[in-house]
Amino acid sequence: MSTMAYPAKDRPWVEKAEELAAGFAPAAAQTDQEAALPKDNLRRLFDAGLDAAILPEEQGGAGLSFRAFGRIVFEIARGCPATACIWLMNTGAAETLIALSSPETSARYVREFRQGKRFANALSEPTSGNLFLNPVQEAERLPGGDWKLEGAKRFVSGAELADYFLINVSIDGAPAFFGVERDDTLEIHDIWDALGMRGTRSQLIGFRGARLKRENRLGPPPEGRQNLIGLGLPWLSLGIAQAAYDALKEHARTKTLGATGKPLSHAQWIQFETAAVHARLTAAKLLAEHTLALADEGSAETNILALEAKILANQIAKDIAELGIRVGGGLAYTKALPFERHFRDAQAGGLMAYSSELCHLFVGQYELGVQEPG
Ligand SMILES: Cc1cc2nc3c(=O)[nH]c(=O)nc-3n(C[C@H](O)[C@H](O)[C@H](O)COP(=O)(O)OP(=O)(O)OC[C@H]3O[C@@H](n4cnc5c(N)ncnc54)[C@H](O)[C@@H]3O)c2cc1C
Repeated sequence: MSTMAYPAKDRPWVEKAEELAAGFAPAAAQTDQEAALPKDNLRRLFDAGLDAAILPEEQGGAGLSFRAFGRIVFEIARGCPATACIWLMNTGAAETLIALSSPETSARYVREFRQGKRFANALSEPTSGNLFLNPVQEAERLPGGDWKLEGAKRFVSGAELADYFLINVSIDGAPAFFGVERDDTLEIHDIWDALGMRGTRSQLIGFRGARLKRENRLGPPPEGRQNLIGLGLPWLSLGIAQAAYDALKEHARTKTLGATGKPLSHAQWIQFETAAVHARLTAAKLLAEHTLALADEGSAETNILALEAKILANQIAKDIAELGIRVGGGLAYTKALPFERHFRDAQAGGLMAYSSELCHLFVGQYELGVQEPG
């Protein structure tokens, strides 16, 4: 991707991700078909030091820029979207727990994360859905200052591998965030017979009296804090979009139309539609890249821009995958060509919080100066 700039010090990390992701691509169809956790891919990313690289240098990391982080999510998603989704959730949950916990708890998470323990986001509730920052499941206060949760979280990517969960609950009607270590009060229910992103195995977790320890409660985020997952999500869709685009080009150039004896790329409608999606893919990447450049500067503007970047990225991924199916024809309706998988995987981005619809609502309200939603 020629347009994307990131600091030179981050180049080795991006190159490692590119190299690893190229190796993930051949098995992506099998991961999808078997709905299998891409454990080996995740282990390779960890062994290459990419997980720890997101930490600041004083915590033994590489102090990776947001621009390089986005590019890494993009490259992994281009090779295997399920791997990219779990990796984004693992690094995002770990970063939040490390950044917002007390110094003692944070130091423990740093140690565990650097040793390969895995983290997951367990924020979505069956009832509050997209409005995951406003949980409705009320925690019960215990004598001594801890709390207890009887409830459930849904769509927890990589849940079966996770050692720690970032969760949220309502305490006296206000949202509260905790780190929770896996124990036998957590029950994982297999609900993931999914349309796409099947290797994420984003399961339902039952919390059967899970103890929310006072010392593991997160503090409030400092002013201007950037959120790794919010910034990374557009790149998950852009990686899928790029994989679909690459496959489309390859197919159009190599498949000959029997009647004309020429490759599909000579069909005018395909040239026209390729140009249209390519222009939008480039624009979506540039907006997502601009958002990350501002995040690296600590700008508060990223709150809205990240939503706009997500809108464009989610839609272009779906549109390129759909074009791939049309260009591929009947065979693209089968697993003989990769487009049906791209098409299924591409639906996830717009559903993942904030959904495309909610992103539109928030951006529209911001632009129109609407304070109270209608
Ligand atoms: C592949 C995948 C991986 C995921 N991984 C994780 C994970 O690791 N951790 C995690 O916590 N969650 C995860 N999620 C959950 C995801 O991020 C969303 O939070 C969840 O899908 C939204 O809840 P819901 O599906 O019940 O949708 P709802 O929120 O019930 O949405 C249903 C519809 O209503 C619309 N809608 C919702 N709220 C409003 C509103 N206020 N006004 C107007 N329209 C509205 C939505 O746009 C949508 O069209 C994952 C989801 C997917 C698909």
